[in-house]
Amino acid sequence: MADSEVLVIGGGIAGASAAFHLAEHGRNVTLLERGDIASEASGVNAGGIGALGWGHLPDLQAYLTMGSLQIFKRLQLELGYDIEFRASGALQAIQTQEQYDYTRDRVLAMRARGYTVELLTANEARGVEPELSPDLWGAVHFPLRAQADPVKATRAFADAAAQQGAQVLTGRNVTAITCQANGAYRVSCDGEERLAERLILAAGVWCGPLGRMLGLDIPIVPVRGQMWASDPLPPRVFHSLSAAESPMDWAQDPEQHPGRPRGSEARTPPELTHLGSRRVTRHLYGRQNRDGELVFGGDRQAVGYDKSVDMTGIEVNVGHVAEVLPLVGSLALRRTWSGLMPFSMDGKPVVGRIPQFENLYIVSGLASSGFGRGPMAGKLIADFIHTGQMPPVLSESDPARCVTAL
Ligand SMILES: Cc1cc2nc3c(=O)[nH]c(=O)nc-3n(C[C@H](O)[C@H](O)[C@H](O)COP(=O)(O)OP(=O)(O)OC[C@H]3O[C@@H](n4cnc5c(N)ncnc54)[C@H](O)[C@@H]3O)c2cc1C
Repeated sequence: MADSEVLVIGGGIAGASAAFHLAEHGRNVTLLERGDIASEASGVNAGGIGALGWGHLPDLQAYLTMGSLQIFKRLQLELGYDIEFRASGALQAIQTQEQYDYTRDRVLAMRARGYTVELLTANEARGVEPELSPDLWGAVHFPLRAQADPVKATRAFADAAAQQGAQVLTGRNVTAITCQANGAYRVSCDGEERLAERLILAAGVWCGPLGRMLGLDIPIVPVRGQMWASDPLPPRVFHSLSAAESPMDWAQDPEQHPGRPRGSEARTPPELTHLGSRRVTRHLYGRQNRDGELVFGGDRQAVGYDKSVDMTGIEVNVGHVAEVLPLVGSLALRRTWSGLMPFSMDGKPVVGRIPQFENLYIVSGLASSGFGRGPMAGKLIADFIHTGQMPPVLSESDPARCVTAL
């Protein structure tokens, strides 16, 4: 007899959402997390929730972003969790004429595809976000984007899962997994054994090591993101903020652009700020949180599992934010930190059934926007398991495209 129908490994936002939605479907589910819930990427991110609308032809990205937005709202407004959700909208600063020309064409293309986005003049942008620099060329307004507290939101999913009857077990480090002759999984956590009929790998950048326990190569690599927070100040910044520099640089660089064909020779995921140790662009995102801190970050560097903070990168980011938001020039940094984002080599999510085994699933590869996409990714994998039918939209994230036997 299995201890549970479904065992989820990983208590980040992807695993916690999967456990919640499975428990809501009435499934007997257990979640194993080696630290605390939200102790890795899901607890240290910027809390930005990206959404552009469904578009004329909803694809996986539309499902993940718009679906997650609905789920975040449900968590706060219907289930009563204070996750600091705010439908703030977002602004992307345009700093040069070249960025303006590129961004104008991009906005027109997005609107033609049915997305909710508009181009603002500098004065229009400063009308809704007065602290923006007068030197900007303009800004893109994303009215559907939102924000929430990463730790509170992720823990709310785990709590909601437990309320629905899931077992949520922290301090459980999975050290071995074997598939039994009857198809069930035996999972060891430092000596403690558990049996489950189905297994979901939701361990973020540690899906690779978990895959190796089963003789699988799961090509999800860690990309370090780092952030800083200012001393608290009264409410001064109302939207989530970003800058147009990196999207333009990534679109123009064949090595970095996710839309270009990337053969098996690709050695790094797309859309990084560094190739090796060489900086190729400056990326920027952030917001003011409820405590009043300005929290910003940007760098995305593939440095293995190294979570030390590189102050040179922090200084570059502080300088960039000060160009967009001059008040930052006079603020003291209160703290810095980093976390590891789970990137696949083509930059796309890896969500679905792993074909080499029966009843083995994965929800990962959510990269730099997994906080805003994790809730729906978890729901889609839960729906897949509950109904036995793959939600058609998951064909875009099929693990079969990249997971191989070792
Ligand atoms: C600095 C930074 C800023 C970011 N900003 C944003 C943002 O603004 N908006 C956005 O949408 N996204 C953002 N992201 C990305 C987002 O945080 C991630 O994509 C998302 O949190 C990934 O969630 P996850 O559940 O897949 O992984 P994780 O949150 O990493 O969770 C995986 C869990 O698995 C556990 N685990 C691993 N191995 C084992 C094992 N052997 N046994 C048991 N448990 C195990 C880990 O302890 C961990 O808790 C940011 C990321 C970083 C690092």
